[in-house]
Amino acid sequence: MHLKTQGIVIKRMNFGEADRILTILTESQGKIKAIAKGSRKILAKLGGSLEPFCLVDFIFHEGKSFYIVTSAVVIKHFEKIHTDIDKTSKAFYIGELLDKFIEVGQKHPEVFHLFAKYLENLENADDKILIPVFSAKILEALGFKPVTSECLHCRNKLVPEQNFWDDIEGGVICQKCHDKFGHGKEISNDVIKILRLVFSSEFSLGSKININDKYKNQTAAVLESYIEGIIERELKSKKFMKDICS
Ligand SMILES: [Zn+2]
Repeated sequence: MHLKTQGIVIKRMNFGEADRILTILTESQGKIKAIAKGSRKILAKLGGSLEPFCLVDFIFHEGKSFYIVTSAVVIKHFEKIHTDIDKTSKAFYIGELLDKFIEVGQKHPEVFHLFAKYLENLENADDKILIPVFSAKILEALGFKPVTSECLHCRNKLVPEQNFWDDIEGGVICQKCHDKFGHGKEISNDVIKILRLVFSSEFSLGSKININDKYKNQTAAVLESYIEGIIERELKSKKFMKDICS
């Protein structure tokens, strides 16, 4: 059986003398594990197509426990992502997020397209809002959209008082519920507004929206802590990205 699909390598490790094991987010089969046999010997043939974060036309042979790469043709290489370490670290961050959130075999074509779009944006224009926007879109596609327009406990509309963010239940809590249950940490009303914006389907990066870097950073921090609450650990690439991009 052969499988032909577009895919993006999100993780790569050497295996044995000459093989490589790849974790690939594919358009048609979701996340898969594939083996590239003798790939270091036949690198000349496959070129850079087994590098992470390229958009590739793959053909696999379905093996017993792995897919086996039989052909890989790069459609988009994303040059700057591979040469600018700041962009590389940001590609690794979203790649790791996808790896942690998606189980092997879960099909998410919309998430594949989001990831391809993220790489396209990262390659061509970089902005602090890029990671929050794409983290939000990926979380939403995977069913983790937080509650930001009302209090997640009492369901009352939020008013501009001191509100709180709860990583565990995913959303904003009003002052009264915070006093009652003690959950959550302080969140500014500006960051709540930005969260609503990045989780709204109308929001596109093309819209020239003016948000200052302080709020972009705070929004990114809220989403990072929400993501880590869901996967119950810190993303390894986060520290790498912080070191590079600070
Ligand atoms: Zn409440």
